[in-house]
Amino acid sequence: MIRLEKKGGKMNSRSIFIIALIVAVAVAAPAWAQGQAQPAAAPAAQPGAAPPAGGAAAAAAAMKAPFPPFHIIGNIYYVGSSGIACYIITTAAGDVLLDTGYDDMAPQIEGNIKALGFKLSDVKILINSHAHTDHGGGLAALKSATGAKLVAMAQDAPYLESGGHNDVLFHDQNLFPPVKVDRVIHDGDTVKLGGVTLRAYLTPGHTPGTTTWTMTTTDKGKSYNVVFLGSVVAVPTNKLFDRPDSPATYPGIKADFDHAFAVVKGLPCDVFLASNGSFFDMQKKHDALLKGADPNPFIDPAGYQAYVARSEVNYQRIVQSQQGECDRACLIMTTNIYLAGLVAHDPSIVKFAPDVKFVENTVPMKPGEGLWKTASAIPTTFKIYVPDTVAQEIGFLGVMEENNRPIEFALRLKLRNGQIVEAEHLIARNLNETSLVNLVVPRKAFTTQVPPDQQTPRDEMLKIGASYYEALVSADANNAPFADDCVRRENGIQTTSNPPPAAPGFGTLGALGCAAQLHTHTFDYIKRIEPRRVEIADPETGLVFGLSQFRHPMEEKEVKIVGVPGVDHVDMSRFKPFDLPAAHIYKVSGGKIHEIEAMGFTMPYNSKTGWE
Ligand SMILES: [Zn+2]
Repeated sequence: MIRLEKKGGKMNSRSIFIIALIVAVAVAAPAWAQGQAQPAAAPAAQPGAAPPAGGAAAAAAAMKAPFPPFHIIGNIYYVGSSGIACYIITTAAGDVLLDTGYDDMAPQIEGNIKALGFKLSDVKILINSHAHTDHGGGLAALKSATGAKLVAMAQDAPYLESGGHNDVLFHDQNLFPPVKVDRVIHDGDTVKLGGVTLRAYLTPGHTPGTTTWTMTTTDKGKSYNVVFLGSVVAVPTNKLFDRPDSPATYPGIKADFDHAFAVVKGLPCDVFLASNGSFFDMQKKHDALLKGADPNPFIDPAGYQAYVARSEVNYQRIVQSQQGECDRACLIMTTNIYLAGLVAHDPSIVKFAPDVKFVENTVPMKPGEGLWKTASAIPTTFKIYVPDTVAQEIGFLGVMEENNRPIEFALRLKLRNGQIVEAEHLIARNLNETSLVNLVVPRKAFTTQVPPDQQTPRDEMLKIGASYYEALVSADANNAPFADDCVRRENGIQTTSNPPPAAPGFGTLGALGCAAQLHTHTFDYIKRIEPRRVEIADPETGLVFGLSQFRHPMEEKEVKIVGVPGVDHVDMSRFKPFDLPAAHIYKVSGGKIHEIEAMGFTMPYNSKTGWE
């Protein structure tokens, strides 16, 4: 039932409906055979990725490898190793040292400070990103070498003072020399020295007191916001949920991580620095700086946002894998990760259940096949999500690219215990300009909430979605609650409520509304719609997601049209039988269907759906 219509509502001699059928039949060849594989893109780098081969000792040694100290920007200097970042912040009244690396790195850090021409005795204050051995292990040594005072976040201070005993993640495995905290601070507190102010933000989760430090610095006459990001790395061994058989890493860790991401996403950042060099591409930026890069490569607001976003995706994946139930945000995040995985050609990014069932355009496949090989760009502006927390399913409709050509993509994911157990792709290819012009952004109704007093209970929404198919095959609009303003689009093409034609005729059909069009019997060639799978609804947005297969035996040579001046029938004699697998999204508000966004593609008559 996909139709083609010339923009502007002016119809030529044949009805939009007939043109559409010609187009539909012309593309009836198995569409999934079109896309050929192309080289796989590199998967997105994950923060907290696996350490280099050779075990923990080799990984630590690689992190500790010496790195020449250098001036970063303004009054900030790098005195860390290849992997572990440590900073000197100079002021008129002495210096601040942020982090020290491992205990056995102390001579290295001291050497780096001196190599830059600074005196150890000028270091007045020690601060810390978090109380782990690789960032605070050397605090005791540096404290005695410099005589500086240690300032630490309240939640991490006990771990510094106990030398890492009872660490929430490592327990007693990563001990370091204990160090006395001279000043305990709290979220938002500042450290001031010689006219320089550092503000501490509590960004917990990695440790209970992980601290992100911020300041402004002036370089070449310009002022910059600097962020020293404390680690926001979640690892799979973090237990984010507190369960009787599996207690949380520490009480409230998930709320802490959620808070940390909310905070770091909101920090103004020009100069992006962090507790580990790899987080902000330290070596690459250092090399560029030495070659005279201008502007200073450490000025990298986009890099900051990208790193935070990647870290949050990493975190959400862990949340998702650990929570039995996926909430709305989790379902949407799962979809986004899935889409990113498709374009990276890397199913390992996605948490599939071992017995996942995956079907693309009615053909059962394995993850890694089909669009997993051909996707070339993720959906950008046309995206409609229908998360259903009750069904643990999400329906999605988007416009993305396959082999660099636009496709309309319907996706259904079903989760069980946070793993994807069913994945279903429907792909409409060969979109023309008439389609694409309406597939740039979704109609507003598909991205906005329904006011609470207009929301419909989920069960009722599912019935309303299913009623549409009944209305079609019965040619009786009374079988579905169409609103007067109902507008339908199919593969982007508006198929109802178009401007009326200058002269009555076939064009009049396309000018009718959702209900009135049904009464003309124009859809009588749709003999069966089966199966009808309507199991996803989101009361908040009023969206219902339905999958179905339209069956057209095309046994009758004409369809009789009722109530359209100048049109008494449509000639069907040239059309062969065909199926149309389709996805529909209905906007339901006040118990009525206000918008329909559909996509579909043709298949041989009486095809299987892949879900038998
Ligand atoms: Zn750490």
